Amino acid sequence: MTEHAPSSTQTSNGPRAGRPADEADVIVVGAGPAGSTTAYYLAQAGLDVLLLEKSTFPREKVCGDGLTPRGVKALVAMGISVSEQDGWVRNKGLRVIGAGKRLELPWPELSSYPEYGLVRPRTDLDQMLARRAQQAGARLFEGVTVTGPVLDDRTGRITGVTAKSGADGERSYRGRIIVAADGNSSRLSVAMGLRKRDDRPLGVAVRTYYQTPRHDDDYLESWLDLWDSDRLLPGYGWIFGMGDGTSNVGLGLLNTSAAFGHTDYHALLRKWLAGMPAEWGFTEENRTEPIRGAALPMGFNRTPHYYQGLLLVGDAGGMVNPFNGEGIAYAMESGEILARTIAQALARARQAETERVLAGYPRALSDAYGGYYTVGRQFVKAIGRPGLMRFATKHAMSRPALMAFALKLLANLTDPRGDASDRLVNGLSKLAPNPK
Ligand SMILES: Cc1cc2nc3c(=O)[nH]c(=O)nc-3n(C[C@H](O)[C@H](O)[C@H](O)COP(=O)(O)OP(=O)(O)OC[C@H]3O[C@@H](n4cnc5c(N)ncnc54)[C@H](O)[C@@H]3O)c2cc1C
Repeated sequence: MTEHAPSSTQTSNGPRAGRPADEADVIVVGAGPAGSTTAYYLAQAGLDVLLLEKSTFPREKVCGDGLTPRGVKALVAMGISVSEQDGWVRNKGLRVIGAGKRLELPWPELSSYPEYGLVRPRTDLDQMLARRAQQAGARLFEGVTVTGPVLDDRTGRITGVTAKSGADGERSYRGRIIVAADGNSSRLSVAMGLRKRDDRPLGVAVRTYYQTPRHDDDYLESWLDLWDSDRLLPGYGWIFGMGDGTSNVGLGLLNTSAAFGHTDYHALLRKWLAGMPAEWGFTEENRTEPIRGAALPMGFNRTPHYYQGLLLVGDAGGMVNPFNGEGIAYAMESGEILARTIAQALARARQAETERVLAGYPRALSDAYGGYYTVGRQFVKAIGRPGLMRFATKHAMSRPALMAFALKLLANLTDPRGDASDRLVNGLSKLAPNPK
């Protein structure tokens, strides 16, 4: 097994005295934003954490690389410097293009969130978060692919995982608690019988990079007009300037559309870009990376989030925001919620009490996002109807005040006791039913 060679700024963390290297209080599977954030807060709480990651950093992750103010807040909470000198590209808001109109919507002024978003390649971001977890004391093993759960024969409860690494073949790791942070496919959840729910939304998105003069745009840009012949598709295209001579360009669609599953995403991307001004340079010659795609699991599309000793976080638990496809902030936030729950659970003297605290994790997630995701699920159902999507786009794009409200709703950016529009968004989420 390879433990990543530490550089001068990393900690080389060992197991607790008297404990074998393959045992820990908590085993976290997957070092994406969800796993690294969970491991960071667990280590900060003084727990011994093993973070197992199949790839080695830096590694690619198919993503738009965009962070709203929600994501910025989660980074700042982990003590990560988000200054431009440290390589972050800031944005002031969202530019929306649709129904022949173009609106620039600044991020709302709130006390709960900063007024700017960020862009950063996931190759950098994910490595940074994993190193932050290590600095806090988590033990990160890279190049270790988890192959399945280790179960208690009597109770069926997960007590560890089996894993493979290049050099060592298969071995097992044991923990008091096991966390699935292994992303959208979450093979560990599937092996425990937790499949994706077909009654919850799912997106599919593709992205690539182009060399373009638009690389230093200070707004995230979103295009609502994605057409499949004469049908307006539920989804959007994006152009996010990376500040390094390139833009991240992609598009995503929702499974509530009849076109879902029958769409050639690469062709749709090319068709959409063919309509752009030539001087932006979105041509094959300027494309710097292959077009790659992946799924976005939304609105709690895998539940329950706690089952037989396994806790699900981030994409593994389907936590992408159904309104806008944002997943990094929710992966990080759910990681913090989970870590705080585990720390409290493991501090209890009796197993029954530990269980009671862990059972509170799905409730805590539900309190944080349940109502909002219920509204989001209705939203994606509605825009899956082409006529309604066309009407909504046309109607809203000619009303800037309505779009400013829509930005708060779609990006989930409000103050608890903010202005009337904040109270309306918060009220909708509170009133919405919150089914399991
Ligand atoms: C095309 C596209 C564009 C997107 N754009 C944005 C965007 O601009 N902004 C945004 O906020 N969100 C975006 N998202 C969503 C975002 O990428 C995800 O929500 C986010 O990555 C979730 O983080 P995670 O840690 O839960 O999962 P992941 O980032 O998928 O991390 C899972 C980790 O687990 C590891 N792993 C998996 N299996 C195993 C195993 N068996 N053993 C060990 N390790 C394992 C993986 O290697 C990976 O490192 C986009 C998604 C797509 C597909």
